[in-house]
Amino acid sequence: MRSSSSSSTTRGSNPRSLACLVARAEACTVCAANLPHAPRPVLRVSPSARLLIVGQAPGRRVHETGIPWNDPSGDLLRLWLGMTREQFYDVSRIAIVPTGLCYPGTVKSSDLPPRPECAPLWHPPLRATMPDIQLTLLIGAYAQAYYLGKRRGRTLADTVAAWRDFLPDYFPLPHPSPRNRLWFKRHPWFEQDVLPALRKQIGTAGLAGDNGGAHQQPMSSREIQD
Ligand code: SF4
Repeated sequence: MRSSSSSSTTRGSNPRSLACLVARAEACTVCAANLPHAPRPVLRVSPSARLLIVGQAPGRRVHETGIPWNDPSGDLLRLWLGMTREQFYDVSRIAIVPTGLCYPGTVKSSDLPPRPECAPLWHPPLRATMPDIQLTLLIGAYAQAYYLGKRRGRTLADTVAAWRDFLPDYFPLPHPSPRNRLWFKRHPWFEQDVLPALRKQIGTAGLAGDNGGAHQQPMSSREIQD
């Protein structure tokens, strides 16, 4: 199943309308002419979700499996968050909606940007059906550009370093791609200072359920293999 909607009813939400919205998103063909394959939106949402993860767009492997963050980037993201796969994929607590819902293709082995039509079309209505979201992780420059606009810094590092400015609603992060190892190496404060703060934020707010977030040992991007 590529997307999920919980059956629980929460304040101001309507599971049936969310299910209809997800069905509409899954049938979307708005930018099909610009995609390398037939549209296959990959998202996980529920009306009871408390943490929203907004990444870039599905990569080829995620497009093929239909499971978001089911790749080395997802492995590193889970290390950063101090979450097991079980916690990460508990859609009753954690929603996952990329900036572009479909795989945009690659050029010279690099993923293309998310389609610009997608976030304005789908994020506002999806976000409106998840009233209990406490924190939104903005992973990478595209998610930060869409949600923070002019509030973001001159560079991605500037934005991430200013993470305190965006709380309590947003927490900006770099993309956890193994290809970004050089960025992690050049910005050691990210693993030393920002990741512990992120885990604490998630753990103290109980966003990942039992045993998630704060208690986990700090983990490094070097633990992930390509
Ligand atoms: S990328 Fe977004 S706008 Fe384009 S077809 Fe997929 S869901 Fe629709």
